[in-house]
Amino acid sequence: MSSRWFAPLLIAAAVLGWLMATLFGEVAWLQTITAILQDSFLAALRMIIVPLIFFSLMTGVLQLRGTRSMGRLGGITVLYYSATSAIAIGIGLIVVFYIHPWTAYPPLTDLPEVTSGLIAQDQGGALALIGKMLQSMLVNPFTALAELNILGVLTTALIFGLAAAFTLPEDSHWPKMLDEITQVVYTCARWVLTALPIGMFAITFQLSGRIDLATLASLGQFALVVFGATALHGLVVLPTIAWIFGNISPLKLASALAQPMLTAFITSSSAATLPLSMTTAEEKLGVERSKAAFVLPLGATINMDGTALFEGIAVIFLAYMFSVPIDAGSVVMVFLITMMASAGAPGIPSGSMAGLQVVLLSVGIPLEAIGLLLLIERPLDTFRTAVNVEGDLIGSIIAQRWS
Ligand code: ASP
Repeated sequence: MSSRWFAPLLIAAAVLGWLMATLFGEVAWLQTITAILQDSFLAALRMIIVPLIFFSLMTGVLQLRGTRSMGRLGGITVLYYSATSAIAIGIGLIVVFYIHPWTAYPPLTDLPEVTSGLIAQDQGGALALIGKMLQSMLVNPFTALAELNILGVLTTALIFGLAAAFTLPEDSHWPKMLDEITQVVYTCARWVLTALPIGMFAITFQLSGRIDLATLASLGQFALVVFGATALHGLVVLPTIAWIFGNISPLKLASALAQPMLTAFITSSSAATLPLSMTTAEEKLGVERSKAAFVLPLGATINMDGTALFEGIAVIFLAYMFSVPIDAGSVVMVFLITMMASAGAPGIPSGSMAGLQVVLLSVGIPLEAIGLLLLIERPLDTFRTAVNVEGDLIGSIIAQRWS
């Protein structure tokens, strides 16, 4: 199905879901069918993610051996990812210091007890965050594969790929074999992606009956500021970077990125969008497979511009709501820890909520504050995930051009 049918399809799903819920209440069999379609589609995506990351990254590293491009590709990728994350947090913090309409109302100091599994009381500061990241990176590869620990899979594939690159002789048959396995995994990914329209329809239909506008209204102003700043980064800053450093016009960029960004928007998961991002980079953006295989899985894990920007604004918003004073030192702290927290966030729906707690703690905001965010978390996650994926794909264009 061509990407221009995606938006009408999803609007139809949302309207249909809303109409059915309004006219007939919950139609049990329809809910069951769409839930099965949604869950099966997401399960199929999860099934393919780990082999895709592992084999494509390892093959990518191996293919680049013997050339000087590996070091350069790595350097450019990491530089691009750090710079754009820093710009995103900067935008979030600058915007929220000028536009904070909620300060017209008294702060909310009395939040009811929130009992969410996302809130752990024993998180420490920056060092604890670094420790946690290292622990999920340096794990038994089989545990990482089985538990869908993306950061662990990524690290393992990188280490094994590098080790193979340094160890295997020039005439080894291993690189060819790994490349063939990767081709097989790509074929599976394409098969899974043929179900994309059905999966998206089911997800949208399921959501449409549940969104409660009255609940969202209480956090509307905060949401609008986040939307505005995210749009600024996603529609102006990133396309400009792509234009200047990637030599691709905003129009061409928009048409190539529409489908993966919409998928990210609907699934709220950069990791689930990864198979589509990989095929888009290769087929629509002309990025070599070996480079896409290095840049995109890394980006889906550590490069989250939308998440970084959201976390910056969220911390300042919550600081006001819970009467926690914020000084220049706290802002620097928020900046640095948000860089790490967004890099450590898994690319799954609400993946950033755990790391966000560490940012909150670093400036003395009570953990219960996150309960307030959870009320509006789902719709906000859609936009920031789309921008996360946009940032990764632009990274692949830049890496292709400069490495
Ligand atoms: N849902 C985001 C992603 O997958 C992570 C987050 O910000 O919660 O990229």
